[in-house]
Amino acid sequence: MIELRTPAEIEAMRPAGRFVAEVLATLREETTVGTNLLAIDRRAHELIRRAGAESCYIDYHPSFGASPFGKVICTSINDAVLHGLPHDYTLRDGDLVSLDFAVAVDGWVADSAVSFVVGTPRDEDLAIIDTAERALVAAIDAAVVGNRIGDISHAIAGVAHADGYAINTDFGGHGVGREMHGDPHVANDGKPGRGYPLRAGLVLALEPWFLQTTDELVTDPDGWTLRSVDGSRGAHAEHTVAITDAGPIVLTDRSFLGVD
Ligand code: MG
Repeated sequence: MIELRTPAEIEAMRPAGRFVAEVLATLREETTVGTNLLAIDRRAHELIRRAGAESCYIDYHPSFGASPFGKVICTSINDAVLHGLPHDYTLRDGDLVSLDFAVAVDGWVADSAVSFVVGTPRDEDLAIIDTAERALVAAIDAAVVGNRIGDISHAIAGVAHADGYAINTDFGGHGVGREMHGDPHVANDGKPGRGYPLRAGLVLALEPWFLQTTDELVTDPDGWTLRSVDGSRGAHAEHTVAITDAGPIVLTDRSFLGVD
């Protein structure tokens, strides 16, 4: 079921969005060569506790999961791109890091992801991060009343295809509200003018992600971490966006923090 939010409810979602933005900005700044993934999770947990927020991940236990996620952030490194379960790994020079973070504040969820390199970057890693970020901007620009879901999907795919990346449509964007995952699904490729019409009050997590030389994923033995079938690296960019009559509002925007 697709739910629409009133303008007052969208206002009530702002603190969740702002908190997610602040945590990702903080973690990005603190994550360097030598940072352990478990330390990133501990730091995120501390920030959640201090703010009185509620993790969407720690008890998350979908049908495909062997057990609850048990951590508060996804850390996907190099050829891992989605759902990375934090584990005992210390970041090395040139690692490509994707952090995906979702919490509820005052009962409203915000969900956002960012990719970056620690240490000396490879050109091809910076390139795929840039594509994911530009695809997210294109998705947000298409998130306007009068368009349809397919227009967002098509906008994302246009950026990826122009840069030569294949697209996996199994995992993509989704509705966000009281729960982390709601309808509609927003595939990262689709036909313009098709799908659910975008209405004021629709709140979506838009999340382009791509892999360098494949669109196929394999699941790690941990039951969560999704990595490329061929070892090529991936990047992920995500914001929670409210569609309004005045245009899209990026609830998880980090630009006001003056970082990345
Ligand atoms: Mg997310």
